[in-house]
Amino acid sequence: IKEETTLITIFGGTGDLANRKLYPAIYRLYAKGFLKENFAVIGTARRQLTNELFRQQVASSITSIADKSQIQEFVSHFYYRSHDVTNQESYKVLLDLSNELDSKYSLKGNRIFFLAMAPTFFNEIAVRLKSEGLVDTEGYQRLMIEKPFGHNLESAQELNDALGLAFNENQIYRIDHYLGKEMVQNVSAIRFANPMIEALWNNRHISNIQVTLAEELGVEERGGYYDNSGALRDMFQNHILQVVSLVLMDYPLSLDKSDIRAEKVRLLRSFDVPEVDEVNNFFVPGQYDANPEDATKYKAYRSEDNVDPKSTTETFVAGKLTSHSDRWNGVPIYIRTGKRLETKKTSIVIEFKNDRPNLFDDSNEQISNTLVIEIAPNESISLNINVKVPGQGLVTQPTVLQTSADSVDPNAPEAYEKVIHDCLRGDATYFSHWDEVALSWQLVDRIYEGWATHPTSLPNYASGSTGPEAANELLAKDGFKWYPLS
Ligand code: NAD
Repeated sequence: IKEETTLITIFGGTGDLANRKLYPAIYRLYAKGFLKENFAVIGTARRQLTNELFRQQVASSITSIADKSQIQEFVSHFYYRSHDVTNQESYKVLLDLSNELDSKYSLKGNRIFFLAMAPTFFNEIAVRLKSEGLVDTEGYQRLMIEKPFGHNLESAQELNDALGLAFNENQIYRIDHYLGKEMVQNVSAIRFANPMIEALWNNRHISNIQVTLAEELGVEERGGYYDNSGALRDMFQNHILQVVSLVLMDYPLSLDKSDIRAEKVRLLRSFDVPEVDEVNNFFVPGQYDANPEDATKYKAYRSEDNVDPKSTTETFVAGKLTSHSDRWNGVPIYIRTGKRLETKKTSIVIEFKNDRPNLFDDSNEQISNTLVIEIAPNESISLNINVKVPGQGLVTQPTVLQTSADSVDPNAPEAYEKVIHDCLRGDATYFSHWDEVALSWQLVDRIYEGWATHPTSLPNYASGSTGPEAANELLAKDGFKWYPLS
């Protein structure tokens, strides 16, 4: 275990993300010894708070996971300054405190800036960090930012240009917390540590791929944010396309970040971008309606708080991606994500071709082999195969080879713990590069353009269902079916 030395400044230090995810993640790194003596955290936000009150807030965010005897010592590394993003004076205050903590804890000028607040402020903060000298240190300076990275290609480009005034590409860690998940990282191991699997990973043997990111919850308290976003921006542009690129990218030269990024970018470039008039043949929007059997508990999206009663925001998208790469030409890659679906499920399903003559006395057709990587709610890998029914005759039946639930380590790091640790170590492998962000916005912009030109009538699926019927037709046209959600 290597102890890291750093100052982490969190903009939005009183917010939901900081309290729910960041402080627990930093605590876990501390409990494991990755952070010990030589670290400090500055929380900054609009509210006036003393260090003492801030430490109490941090302590309460970790009580359920922390070792009681460590809490006081841990929170003594936390400091608070109130701050107004647009006020130059605030940055001077932060600069003084940063320099003071740098010498107090021997931080070697290493600085991480975490922007845990609304993206409208990102440009301004980056520019001020530079102009007020906060990034002028001997050590490293790294910027961690959350989604959303822009609203479309144009705004993403503007944001990127502004960040570029203070940080170069290697210093920008665009978080996609899905890439910090254990099973998502396991995709690389499953593929590249198993020649048997990698040998089959192409259009000769795979008939279709399905990536599902289904949520059971609705928009909850985030109606105001979500109504300006939608499933395509909130889930597809980042999480889904990132998972898809890890699953489909070519064999990298090494697991080094630049080699992995190069392959992910090449893959994204190989996706066909449909013409505006063709978009609806490939991408299906959906919006949840009330559930007719329980309309009070499961109300329509348009009746949610802070949502426009005539909203056309999509709470669901199903899509078919096609690639013109040598490896994937001809293999449909289906994706779907949505809110208020039947069940919560994140999975990757690889369905293999089933085109050999059946030599057995089966009345039922043999199942196609499928490799299923489940990311949530459970973590598992399973392979569906056919075996012989015991006894007389040669009849087959399906069975499942599955990793046992015990193999999931209960102490496995949580996604934010991983992403912060990676940033501390300077490893940007599981963050998104600007090239990937730009390519994914290009596709998303085109889909919105297509949907705006040929609108679909919304809402079109009942809360608690498996999504709109059109999502099933998308696969049925090609002779496939969605792998069951539950
Ligand atoms: P939040 O509203 O709970 O917190 C916002 C923080 O910013 C608060 O600490 C607030 O005091 C501070 N702030 C607002 N205006 C300010 C100003 N003018 N000057 C100084 N400080 C100011 O938001 P959140 O849910 O923590 O989300 C933060 C960011 O992370 C957003 O961009 C969000 O989209 C993203 N995000 C959040 C989550 C999550 O789980 N909460 C998940 C993914 C992405």
